[in-house]
Amino acid sequence: GEYGDKIACISMGPAGEMKMAAASIAFTDMEQRPTRHAGRGGVGAVMGAKGVKVIVIDDAGTKMRSPKDPEKFKAATKEWVDGLKKNPTTGEGLPSYGTNVLTNVINEAGSYPTHNFLWGRFEGCEKISGETQAETETSRGGSATHGCHRGCIIRCSGTYVDKDGHYITKQPEYETVWAHGGNCGINDLDAIAQLDRLDDDYGLDTIEMGATIAVAMEAGIAKFGDAKAAINLVKEVGKGTHLGRILGNGAAVTGKVFGVERVPVVKGQAMPAYDPRGIMGIGVTYATSTMGADHTAGYAVMTNIMDIGGSVDPLKPEGQVELSRNLQIATAVVDSTGMCLFVAFATFQALLDMVNSFYDMNMTADDVVAFGKSVLKNERDFNIKAGFTSEHDRLPEYFKREALPPHNITFQVKDEDLDQVFNW
Ligand code: SF4
Repeated sequence: GEYGDKIACISMGPAGEMKMAAASIAFTDMEQRPTRHAGRGGVGAVMGAKGVKVIVIDDAGTKMRSPKDPEKFKAATKEWVDGLKKNPTTGEGLPSYGTNVLTNVINEAGSYPTHNFLWGRFEGCEKISGETQAETETSRGGSATHGCHRGCIIRCSGTYVDKDGHYITKQPEYETVWAHGGNCGINDLDAIAQLDRLDDDYGLDTIEMGATIAVAMEAGIAKFGDAKAAINLVKEVGKGTHLGRILGNGAAVTGKVFGVERVPVVKGQAMPAYDPRGIMGIGVTYATSTMGADHTAGYAVMTNIMDIGGSVDPLKPEGQVELSRNLQIATAVVDSTGMCLFVAFATFQALLDMVNSFYDMNMTADDVVAFGKSVLKNERDFNIKAGFTSEHDRLPEYFKREALPPHNITFQVKDEDLDQVFNW
């Protein structure tokens, strides 16, 4: 192209140009495809509002920065890499099956939101699981492991190809497979891959779009399980038709326009692939995260379901506030390093040693906690100035009223306890 092939691009798509709330920002992968998205929060609309279509980065002539203490940095990096390789999740599960390894796990736990958060199990789960996806990819000549960038040692992504071996999209993530799959009653991996590709091409957040289509299905615009209709709805968004403009502004707007009460959003953002009634720790994170319903801000699923970092019963309210608080603090720190969040599975000390030796600092574990809290406080202060109150740190009422099968359980963390998350 015009700028050569040694560049990277950060861009918005038509959804960003139309300033839609579900608009994402795309980053090119190693093959120069715009497949890695900053999906959540409607950030693509910010580029649209500023009139910035693309940022082209060419690092020719620049130098890598050197660590202040190269020996210590090398030793810390080695320990960190060894930790990631030895860890069963980052060394085996993610490289083999990607994040979609979670489909069977969360479905088994009875917390896999299905048909717009109506049930906690999906009968078509086997057809869209990470195991089936990896087998489909490799048998067709695609790949079940691939990295966002050259430096990744986990490589949780992959390459999804059609029956003739032609590239469709990068391996859809667990959240995408759920949003466009189970949540809409769709059990067809090829259709999900097409939806993922359309989202990437238009610059749309896959979680928001899947949740939106499920709300539209509940409104009767399409039938649950109708993959063709789902594809057409996303195309409406890309074309910017009147219906497309509504859908492209996400689940909250779509629910309002079509009079749907069961709309799974917090602060206007759609919930990801874990039902907060069956995994109450993630419900606390959804409710209180400064950016609206978001799983990455404090991934309590890890402890609630996988017993990593302790064990807290997912079906009881006790211990969830503390769990979410600690994870939100730690996540704010990892996010600040610029590392992929999946490195959190390795030892935290090695990451701290890397940062300290790189910058010649002496941050202790206590300093790190204080730093994480300061990040969250800044975010909270921003939200307060923007008019958010504790009333916005809540799940929609129906999660407290409607019991989720198969556990037949409601969300039971009390409002006054949610208000304690940032009270440290
Ligand atoms: S581990 Fe992170 S950086 Fe690596 S491929 Fe997965 S998401 Fe991308």
